[in-house]
Amino acid sequence: MRHFIARAAALLRVPALCCGLLGSVGGAAAQHPPQVALSGIAPSPVVARLVAMVEASTDTCRASSMSNPDHRTVAADVARFRQQVPAAADTPIEVLDCYWDGMVVAGRRIIVSTRLARATPAQRFFVIAHEYAHLSAQHHARFAELVTQLLQQDGRPHAVARALERGAGSPLSRRNETEADAIAVHLMLDAGIDPEEAARFLDAAGQAAQPELDTHPGPKTRAAAIRALVTQREAHRLAQRMSHEMAQPALQRVATGP
Ligand SMILES: [Zn+2]
Repeated sequence: MRHFIARAAALLRVPALCCGLLGSVGGAAAQHPPQVALSGIAPSPVVARLVAMVEASTDTCRASSMSNPDHRTVAADVARFRQQVPAAADTPIEVLDCYWDGMVVAGRRIIVSTRLARATPAQRFFVIAHEYAHLSAQHHARFAELVTQLLQQDGRPHAVARALERGAGSPLSRRNETEADAIAVHLMLDAGIDPEEAARFLDAAGQAAQPELDTHPGPKTRAAAIRALVTQREAHRLAQRMSHEMAQPALQRVATGP
């Protein structure tokens, strides 16, 4: 099983990329079994090991400190993010020096990389918000549920490992990524930050000629989805304002009488 797990992990994790929005759910699930699952039941050790195959890992990370200017930049972003998104105030977010820009470890804590310092403040907000979305939407638990279902269907861990190697988790991963982007866009708009910055970040990733990721929608697709979301939310806001303005005269008539 170890062999299959190693191969599947290589297949699903390899695709380095850009925006490092790769990190998604991540890490040492085997050492730190998640306490929260959608079903409310902690996954078995076998499920946790299989889930760890499809998640990003901190094995590309090194410790970083405040003496590093990039660390200070990203740590300040994290502090600002916690202020701007009060629901994230108590979320564990750690700054490390990683290959990926960000990840969620075992559905419990967010890691953001000092390498994010290369991006603009709005783009850094987007990446932190994207990882926060993975955590708050319980994407780790969704993977545990998927793997549990696969195990129930087959019963043999090595067969499930093979299925994951062939991409059995990829559709769910892509859905999770799209959802994390959408939540991040809403968090940006709520914080008064222009999501166009996030779209540009992905545009740049798309131009970097990096390999297509099985686990993520392509950068161009993601950038287009972000722009569509912004247009949609703007249209919704406009419609709400118009209906409010149209209702005002009628309300005034009711208040002042005929
Ligand atoms: Zn992600």
